[in-house]
Amino acid sequence: MVIHSGKCPRCERTIATAKVENIKISGAADYKGVSYSCPYCHSVLSVSMDQVGLNVDLVNRLLKALGKG
Ligand SMILES: [Zn+2]
Repeated sequence: MVIHSGKCPRCERTIATAKVENIKISGAADYKGVSYSCPYCHSVLSVSMDQVGLNVDLVNRLLKALGKG
């Protein structure tokens, strides 16, 4: 049994599940990213790179560079 104790800093409800949404992270280049939101008040808790999306992009770029894409 898992006891969740992490609370949303805005609404202060205990969070057992975060809502994940795709976002674009822009800077020197654009990258696929994800945001993690509170399921109750929808405040963004964290943002990070989308590792699965980055891996798919890398494979596609390699296939294209090798003339197989
Ligand atoms: Zn909240």
